[in-house]
Amino acid sequence: MPPHSKFTRSAASRTLAPLLLLLLLAFGCGKKEAAESGSQAAAETIAKPGRVGLAGFPAGLGEDFSGARAHRHVAQLVAIGPRPPSSSGYQQALRLVETRLGESGWRCTRQTFLEETPAGLISFTNLLARLPPPDGGEINWQESTAVLIGGHLDSKLMSFPFVGANDGGSSTGILIELARVLAAKPAAGSQVELVFFDGEEAFRPNITPSDGLYGSKHYAGLLSRRGSWPSVGIVLDIVGDPNFELHFNPESPAVFQRALEAALPDAFPTTVRRARGQIVDDHLPLQATGLPCLHLIGDFQRMNYWHRPGDTLDKVDAEMLGAVGRLTLDFLAGLPAGPAE
Ligand SMILES: [Zn+2]
Repeated sequence: MPPHSKFTRSAASRTLAPLLLLLLLAFGCGKKEAAESGSQAAAETIAKPGRVGLAGFPAGLGEDFSGARAHRHVAQLVAIGPRPPSSSGYQQALRLVETRLGESGWRCTRQTFLEETPAGLISFTNLLARLPPPDGGEINWQESTAVLIGGHLDSKLMSFPFVGANDGGSSTGILIELARVLAAKPAAGSQVELVFFDGEEAFRPNITPSDGLYGSKHYAGLLSRRGSWPSVGIVLDIVGDPNFELHFNPESPAVFQRALEAALPDAFPTTVRRARGQIVDDHLPLQATGLPCLHLIGDFQRMNYWHRPGDTLDKVDAEMLGAVGRLTLDFLAGLPAGPAE
């Protein structure tokens, strides 16, 4: 890793310097290979006909993003209780998100579908949101915006009350606050579709090809049938705890990784670095359609509360939510306009 890289700069990296140096050396070996395959993927996919190019995303929006507001949204979501697919909690969560987005002027539409799961036939609902066109007319959901920002709304079905404050909650709070910030700047907001995925979590302990990612798979299938496609996908998950590293997907295009690094402030609350391997999450079905994605996820494998009763509101930090929200907006502002690369 070159010395100018910001991806590992944090308080944690100072205290764990010797260990991280070793990790960096190991990590650096794979960097070139990953970056090359990433840019190759971008060249292949962004050039796809019918992809809506980014029209220069305005800079400086990050200053308006409030971590405290995002945290209040997470608190309201967690207060509902567990929200596994098809539950009354999930229905309440949908209504909460629709209400908050509506207050910011966004219009929502639900994608409801049935899917066979290890728990039987389950009804899932994704929530999609966009700002209305300037003339106030109808939104054409069969065409795409340049940018898709998503996170999962469901919480994992457990034998104990599991509220997923960080896992599913943190990204939801950020997306709701992003909606408020983007609505005030239509040049940016009109380029974005927000998606709250259902059924990210598996019914069995781990996500497998036949269990989990139900909502993003369904969304990706419908996305493929649209008349136009986004250029940029962003998926956030488990991003509220500054005590753990934040990882991005190694398969993301090189242009995304450069924009992420450029957007990363020195004072970011935790270390940001490339994941050691591919993480299975909602970005994978999107990437399979040819959509280049940036996936940001906390190092959940080190969280002793992951998928346990302890994933509660105290694990979610307002400052961290603010930092991730600003990073998302600054990342978009740093991407080249048009069909990139
Ligand atoms: Zn989870």
